[in-house]
Amino acid sequence: MVARTAALFILLVSLPIITSSSSSSSSLSVCIVGSGIGGSSVAHFLREYSAPSASISIRVFERHGVVGGRMARVNVGGDSFEAGGSILHPKNYHALNYTKLIGLKIRWPNATRDSDGRDDDSDFGIWDGKGFVFKTWRVNSKLPFVDKIVSFANTALLFWRYGFSLIRMDNFVQRTVNNFLKYYESTDSRPVFETVDEMLKWAGLYKLTGHTLEEELISIGLSPLLIRELITVITRVNYGQSVSISGLAGAVSLAGSGGDLWSVQGGNWQMAAGLLNHSNVALHLREEIESISNLGNYYELNSSQGNSYECEVAVVATPLDEVDIRFDPSVSIPPRKLQHTHATFVRGLLNPAYFGFGSVEEIPELVGTIEDPGIPFSSISVLKRHNAKEATYKVFSREAMLDTLLDQIFSARKETIRINWGAYPHYKAPEVFAPFILDGQHLYYVNAFENAASTMEMSAVAAENVARLILSRHFGHVRLKLSGSEDSTDDMGLHLEL
Ligand SMILES: Cc1cc2nc3c(=O)[nH]c(=O)nc-3n(C[C@H](O)[C@H](O)[C@H](O)COP(=O)(O)OP(=O)(O)OC[C@H]3O[C@@H](n4cnc5c(N)ncnc54)[C@H](O)[C@@H]3O)c2cc1C
Repeated sequence: MVARTAALFILLVSLPIITSSSSSSSSLSVCIVGSGIGGSSVAHFLREYSAPSASISIRVFERHGVVGGRMARVNVGGDSFEAGGSILHPKNYHALNYTKLIGLKIRWPNATRDSDGRDDDSDFGIWDGKGFVFKTWRVNSKLPFVDKIVSFANTALLFWRYGFSLIRMDNFVQRTVNNFLKYYESTDSRPVFETVDEMLKWAGLYKLTGHTLEEELISIGLSPLLIRELITVITRVNYGQSVSISGLAGAVSLAGSGGDLWSVQGGNWQMAAGLLNHSNVALHLREEIESISNLGNYYELNSSQGNSYECEVAVVATPLDEVDIRFDPSVSIPPRKLQHTHATFVRGLLNPAYFGFGSVEEIPELVGTIEDPGIPFSSISVLKRHNAKEATYKVFSREAMLDTLLDQIFSARKETIRINWGAYPHYKAPEVFAPFILDGQHLYYVNAFENAASTMEMSAVAAENVARLILSRHFGHVRLKLSGSEDSTDDMGLHLEL
């Protein structure tokens, strides 16, 4: 029996994604709402995984005049910087593949500083509202061996303060990253998932969504000092939240603070633009979708421009928490709040007196903060140093930074730009996930996965699964359900849907 099940499994998973003999129809129309990395990745993977004989028309709707969503740029004093999603992990393989496919240049951190961002070697400090409880050394040398010595000394400083908890923290992050890598396994052996819960269980990541990051880290023996300081700084920089976010969102956040992080030269938004170009879609810019109605064999999408579109499949590739799309019949998803992050870009100069220093050079290039209601910002980082008297800074905060406050923190301000992002979910534990399939039919929701963690790559991974789900369900071929590796008592749950 076991042998027969195994043989059946091998047979099923080795079938191509679309077989002409099993297709109910070789054509399909798909409407995608949102042109961020999620929506553009759905379009890309629909093309990638469909047979050449399948005729798939894809429309993408974007309420703004540019594509990319939260991968947006901001112009400050003539320089352009990432305003939202800025850094990618070296193992974000979909994003890396996109850059190759589209021919984009990668900006590695050890490249010389350009208008895109910071050096990797910049110094950093932890501000508690009164002083810096921790501060690394800055290197201003052109000599590589001096860089190395300073970097070694900074590592020693970290170990001096936080001890071997740092190694346990690193092991925790590596374990999570290794589990995440399962999402890049061959589609021959990787199932298509109907729910976020299944998808996380299969990779061994689900349990991390059941506890807070703090609980996870205490359970593996991390010191309270490390959690209160360094780890809190990282979750505040990356998610504007404390260590009470879920263990999974926390691990992703910690992974995003390591070395070798990269970005796309000239802007990450180009990944979305390139994917949409490559995928031969009809792109509707400045066209907001106001309603999606299920009319039996197709969905009708009505837009702000008074147009109606009919598609057999509708994909929502934007968080539904703050957008106002009417669904008929209505759909039900667990309530979720978005965490608002205020990104304030300032061209000017920090005020050393605010930080208790005599000169601006003493202020670290990245100022992180601990949890204290008296501290009015989450982080301040230097994006570009123009000269000794002027730099461009990015301030992240939970509340808007008023002029009176900025005038205390900065001694000079030439230009100030404020963006209020509905940035990512407000994470909690245990997380409850919305379904990928919103209505049990052909209405899909990519950003259901964002409760696990919010990154550009997470959206791409979710989008790949949604594209495979659409193709396998529509073309009536194999649907695979595997018990998660965290639920080994379940049966294999494999079934054919023809
Ligand atoms: C300040 C900030 C910093 C971040 N830093 C990082 C980072 O360093 N690294 C990282 O990996 N991630 C980071 N992220 C998260 C990352 O940017 C997001 O997870 C990712 O870009 C989400 O992509 P998405 O396509 O799922 O959604 P979005 O990018 O939000 O795309 C949704 C799109 O849908 C459009 N839309 C919404 N409603 C409608 C409608 N009714 N009709 C038509 N169009 C509609 C929106 O305009 C938008 O363009 C950051 C996010 C923020 C805000």
